[in-house]
Amino acid sequence: LTTLTDDAWLALNNVADFATGLVTPSVRLGVTGLSRAGKTVFITALVHNLIKGGRMPLFEPMATGRLARASLQPQPDDAVPRFDYEAHVADMVDERVWPSSTRRISELRLTVAYESASYFSRTLGSGKLHIDIVDYPGEWLLDLPLLTKDYATWSREAVALSRLPNRARLAGDWHRRLEAADPAAEEDEATARGLADAFTGYLAACRADEHALSMLPPGRFLMPGDLDGSPALTFSPLVLEDDRVVPRTSMRAMMERRFEAYKTHVVRPFFRDHFARLDRQIVLVDALSALNAGPHAMRDLENALADILSCFRPGRTSWLASILTRRIDRILFAATKADHLHHTDHDRLQRVLKRLVKRAIKKAEFAGADIDILALAAVRATREGTVRRGGNALPTIIGTPMTGEIVDGERFDGKTEIAMFPGDLPKDPESLFAHLESESELEEAVAKVESESKHQPLQPESKLELSRAGTDVRYVRFRPPKLERSPDGLSLTLPHIRLDRALQFLIGDKLA
Ligand code: GDP
Repeated sequence: LTTLTDDAWLALNNVADFATGLVTPSVRLGVTGLSRAGKTVFITALVHNLIKGGRMPLFEPMATGRLARASLQPQPDDAVPRFDYEAHVADMVDERVWPSSTRRISELRLTVAYESASYFSRTLGSGKLHIDIVDYPGEWLLDLPLLTKDYATWSREAVALSRLPNRARLAGDWHRRLEAADPAAEEDEATARGLADAFTGYLAACRADEHALSMLPPGRFLMPGDLDGSPALTFSPLVLEDDRVVPRTSMRAMMERRFEAYKTHVVRPFFRDHFARLDRQIVLVDALSALNAGPHAMRDLENALADILSCFRPGRTSWLASILTRRIDRILFAATKADHLHHTDHDRLQRVLKRLVKRAIKKAEFAGADIDILALAAVRATREGTVRRGGNALPTIIGTPMTGEIVDGERFDGKTEIAMFPGDLPKDPESLFAHLESESELEEAVAKVESESKHQPLQPESKLELSRAGTDVRYVRFRPPKLERSPDGLSLTLPHIRLDRALQFLIGDKLA
C-alpha cells in the first residue's frame, strides 16, 4: 500500500474530473432577449421546476418519470460569473418580488440524471446530461453588423436613424451636442464623454416602456456589463460632411479609434468566447410591450429579430462563420409574459410572434436550424376567472398588482388581489402590421432623411405624431404568484404556462 501525497491526490482527482467530463455529454443552452424580456425569470423558473419536480406534462422525460434527478453543479467556466439562482429564487418564492434583471453574461450548470427511453441505451445504464445555461443580453447580438461597417458608415446611419420622426424627439439633447461638435477639432475627453453620455441617454429613452424600440446598437451602451465607463464605450457618432482626411489628433480620429477598439475588444471576444460555443438557443421576446407601444416598436422589433437571426446563420465568408466551431441547430422564439392575457389569447400572441419572425426570416434570408415559436409565461402570476356583467360572462385574469401599481386610477399596495379583463389581441395579426406595409419603410426613411439632412439643420422636435397599433391590451404588473404543489405532492413549485413545451423543444431529444 502506498500513501499518496496531496499533490498526487489532486492530480488523480483532476484526471477523474476530466474523464467524467468526457463521458457526460453536455449541451450549451443560450438564453437571450432584449432587456426586460424575461431571461432571469425564465432561467430561474426552468431550473426550479426541474429541481423541484414541477408540473411539466409536455416535457416528456418528466411526464413519463424518466427524469430521476436534476441538481446544480459547479459550472465549468471559471471566467464567467455564475447565474445567481439562489438569490433569484429567494426573491420570487420568499419575498414574492421579481428578481433583478440580466445586466451581463452569466452561466449555470444543471446536471440531470435520467433513464433512457430506448432499450439499447437502457442496457448501457442510466444517462447523465450537463445543461450549461448561458444567460446574455440580446443587445449584444445586435452588434454583429457593426463588424462590417467603418466608423463613417455607422455614424451616418446612426445619425439618419435618430432623425426619423419617432426617434428625433428623444434625441434632442444629443442632436444639440452633435451640432456644436466639430469633427475636425482637437480631440477632447470631456467633449467625447458628453457626446457619449447624450447618445446613451437617447438610446435609453428609445428603450423606455412607452417607445419600446429594439434596434439600439451599440449593445454595450445600454448593457455595458463590466465595461461601464471604459474608453471603449466613450464614443458617439458625429455628423460627418464628407470623407475628408482629418489629423490623427482630431475628434473624429479619436471616435474612429474607439469605435474600432469596441469592435476588437468587446464585440469580437463576446462572439468568439461565448456565442460560438452554444448548441441551442431560446430568444425571449416581449411582444406585448412592443404591441402596446405601437407600430414603430413592432417594426423595430422585427428588424432586431432579423439581425438576431443573422447571427445564427452568418454569411459563409463572414468573420463569424470563420470562428464558429459548432452550429446552433434549434432556436426557439418565445413571446413571454403570456399570463398577462386570458388563455384564449395565448394562440393569438403566438401568431403575432410568428408573423414577426416569419418576416425576419425572410429579411435575414435565414435557412438551416429548426425554429419553433411559442407564447409562454415562465412564471404564471395570474389565475383565470369570469365576471358576470349584464348577463355576459367576461373572461378575466386574477392577480396581485405590485406595490405602487396604478390600475384604473387606483394605487395598489401589493396585498390586494384584483380580477380584470385583460383586453384582446386581434384575431388576425395582419391588422397590426397594416400601417407599415412597405417592406423597406425604414431604409426609405433613412435614405430620405439622409438626403434632406445634407442641406438642413437638425430638427430635434418633430411635429409628426404616429398612430398607435390597434391593440387594447392592458398591462398591469402583478406580483409573482404563490407556489403550487408539485404533481408528486412533495414540493412547492412555480406555476408557468408552456415552459414544459419550450423545454421539450430545446433539449427533449438530448434525453431520449
Ligand atoms: P431580463 O432583463 O430579460 O433578465 O428580464 P427579467 O427576467 O428580469 O424580467 C423583467 C420583468 O418582466 C420582471 O421583473 C417581471 O416584472 C416581468 N416578467 C418576466 N417574466 C415574466 C412572466 O413569466 N410572467 C410575468 N407576469 N411577468 C414576467
